[in-house]
Amino acid sequence: MDQPYIPIARPLIGDAEKAAVLAVLDSGQLAQGAQVRELETRFAEYIGVKHAIATSNGTTALHAALVACGIGPGDEVITTPFTFIASANAALFVGARPVFVDIDPATFNLDPSQVEDRITPRTRAILPVHLYGQPADLDALVDICRRHDLRLIEDACQAHGAAWRGQRVGSFGIGTFSFYPTKNMTTAEGGMITTNDDAVAAAARLFREHGAPVRYQHVSLGHNFRMTDVHAAIGLAQFDQIEAWTERRIANAAALSRGITRFETPTVRPEARHVFHQYTIRVQGDRDAAKEQLHRRGIGTGIHYPAPVHHQPLYRHLGYDDTHPEAERAAREVLCLPVHPALSAADLERIIVEVNCL
Ligand SMILES: *Cc1c(COP(=O)(O)O)cnc(C)c1O
Repeated sequence: MDQPYIPIARPLIGDAEKAAVLAVLDSGQLAQGAQVRELETRFAEYIGVKHAIATSNGTTALHAALVACGIGPGDEVITTPFTFIASANAALFVGARPVFVDIDPATFNLDPSQVEDRITPRTRAILPVHLYGQPADLDALVDICRRHDLRLIEDACQAHGAAWRGQRVGSFGIGTFSFYPTKNMTTAEGGMITTNDDAVAAAARLFREHGAPVRYQHVSLGHNFRMTDVHAAIGLAQFDQIEAWTERRIANAAALSRGITRFETPTVRPEARHVFHQYTIRVQGDRDAAKEQLHRRGIGTGIHYPAPVHHQPLYRHLGYDDTHPEAERAAREVLCLPVHPALSAADLERIIVEVNCL
């Protein structure tokens, strides 16, 4: 019996998104305009911050956030090696040095108990990643930042709507989000910076638009990191469904964790609202064979990430030779299963049966 393939991720684009894009195309206002402003307003409200600044993608949101914090050459930024490369590269883009601290194996997030040992007089910021949609330990990280006078820059690219003790991520420090098609909501490509800090917001806006507070008056070096109204219109349509989709992800994850007995399933901290951008198990043994078998049985999976950042050739070339055993073990063991809101009850049952048969 041939059953449909279950993909690891699937952007949900409906009639509302299509109509919204066509309306923008008909309007003649294609670049950054009213749609972007509305998405910024709604996103700021959603996260619970004063300012949201839309960008061209999550990578440029991270870059602009570090610029806006005044981080530059000679500075150090503490981050996790178990993430997408963009989190660490943000520091490189501004001439700063990423300093890696290993992860907590239970949550895959930056281990705060190891952070203070790596703080030096050059440290300017801690950049945790809310990996897979679970907030990093914000009690500990906010406290460390306060005591050492450091910026907290949250890579929340996988964590739209995630919360720690009921407060949304991206509001504890300076938040950065991505709207790439596989993320929990999409604009095709897009990003957002969130902050309560008026000066950071102003600096991020300036950098996004050629350092020009007024057209053709350039006061500082800037870039074109703008979002377009075409993309923002998709995001506004997605926004109407983000909470319903998130609840589906959480319910799907709960069903998987009830059913899967053969592998270690995700640990959710009691303080956390984990929004399950990814649902990740650990496969000890031949992970690639497990991935291949699931593929043959019609189930897509992902490996996020197969190598920690400090092992990437770019970082080797830069002289990084540190070891982070838990990040390295996670890179060997993690396997992400479908958890997206388009899964049916039958899909979930199939995933559970096939995973338990591995
Ligand atoms: C997706 C992602 C980014 C980059 O976002 P883009 O929109 O793809 O540029 C950065 N950090 C993490 C953790 C991500 O998952």
